[in-house]
Amino acid sequence: MYTCIVCGYKDLEMESYGKEYPSCEICSCCGFQFGIDDDKGISHDLWRETWIKKDCSFWYTPDRPIAWDVEKQLKSIGIMYKKKDANKNICPVCKYDGLDEPAYNSLGYGSYDICQGCGFQFGLDDYPDKNKGIQKWRENWIRGGSSWYSTSSIKPNWNPTEQLIHLSKIKK
Ligand SMILES: [Zn+2]
Ligand SMILES: [Zn+2]
Repeated sequence: MYTCIVCGYKDLEMESYGKEYPSCEICSCCGFQFGIDDDKGISHDLWRETWIKKDCSFWYTPDRPIAWDVEKQLKSIGIMYKKKDANKNICPVCKYDGLDEPAYNSLGYGSYDICQGCGFQFGLDDYPDKNKGIQKWRENWIRGGSSWYSTSSIKPNWNPTEQLIHLSKIKK
């Protein structure tokens, strides 16, 4: 496996620039084609910049690793990148910010995802009154020691105390 010099993706099948010819492989992650896109005069830096501007969307999604960490990937090639908060899906109950999709869509329907922070299922545990359901779940969750629902998925830089401070601010 080889690393993409544009985005840092580590699963390229061929060396991007072999001894004689470029691989002509398209990076599954950033979509850069070695030997083709650069031949058009597009530099790696320019491609990367444009890709980051488009919020680093994974080019060929079936290849996307389950726990894809774009910040870490870019850091591995020396690029500092911070995901924008706007792209994060935040749980309205406990403020866990790692939901796979928005808790509620634009029509207000729940995603049926279960929050890994507090265990709330959007669209189910909020029935029949969304606001009351969320509030009640949150109170119970805090009363129960605000422990993480899924301990395996918790990011190391997240701690419930920080989250609770955040919540108490919202309550005011
Ligand atoms: Zn790439
Ligand atoms: Zn939650």
